Amino acid sequence: MPLTTFHKTRLAPTPSGFLHIGNAYSFALTAALAQQTGASIVLRIDDMDRERVHPEYVDDIFDTVNFLDIPWHEGPKDAADFETHFSQRHRLPLYEKALERLVATGLVYACDCSRKQISEQYGGVYPGTCRRKGIPLDTPDVSWRIDTENAASIGVKQLDGSFVYTVLPPEMQHFVVRKKDGFPAYQLTSLVDDLYFGIDLIVRGEDLFPSTLAQLFLAALLREDKFLGVTFYHHGLLKDGDRKLSKSAGDGSIRHLRKSGYNSKEVYGMIGRQVDGILTHWRDFEQINP
Ligand SMILES: [Zn+2]
Repeated sequence: MPLTTFHKTRLAPTPSGFLHIGNAYSFALTAALAQQTGASIVLRIDDMDRERVHPEYVDDIFDTVNFLDIPWHEGPKDAADFETHFSQRHRLPLYEKALERLVATGLVYACDCSRKQISEQYGGVYPGTCRRKGIPLDTPDVSWRIDTENAASIGVKQLDGSFVYTVLPPEMQHFVVRKKDGFPAYQLTSLVDDLYFGIDLIVRGEDLFPSTLAQLFLAALLREDKFLGVTFYHHGLLKDGDRKLSKSAGDGSIRHLRKSGYNSKEVYGMIGRQVDGILTHWRDFEQINP
């Protein structure tokens, strides 16, 4: 069955570490799907978390996509172009506007709980304790959360055009939309950016499925219907890494492999073997559990 055509997809790495073979796999899948469906590719670097962002990690993103021959048609050409024109800092007014619209729904509230408190008292699942405290939003050092109590079931559009319906998982109950440092949180910036760039196909690891649900929840609140029609493909993760490789090379980062003299074909070979491993494992599983 031929796949639908899409307009635009994106690569959205975060410069908070050197990219590893799992990122390369995700990029390669995105590029392959884009090619098959006629989509162009936007390179979007998520640098809102300034504490974790380092210039050498931004450089590493360009080194990696160039080394792997991953094409992109929109976005920064290099690290300097990124800083000057594409850093998320330049889109702060857009995020602020979206936050204002969220506040207008009456569902945003301030929370002064510490991370330690949330993990120790609530086991990491925030029950919405501060919702009833009425802490003013302009209080210093509070995060802003969104009340998810009455969240409806969320439809996620698949590659074949069908929808899968599910609810927000526990870790996304009352999730943060603005961090304690006053900057917008990832779920909001990712949604606003995908709308801004006109993305209609999102390829990401299955570990980000809860984030997909959180972003669709926000889109529904903001009446951004376009985002509700975005197609998602959540791929499996390369978990264990190539054991033989990690032993001999000591590190799964693409940078390390590149510096150790591997060429891109060899790196793609490593990815392919791991994917084969996943598929073989899956076939075994299906045979045992038909
Ligand atoms: Zn709280």
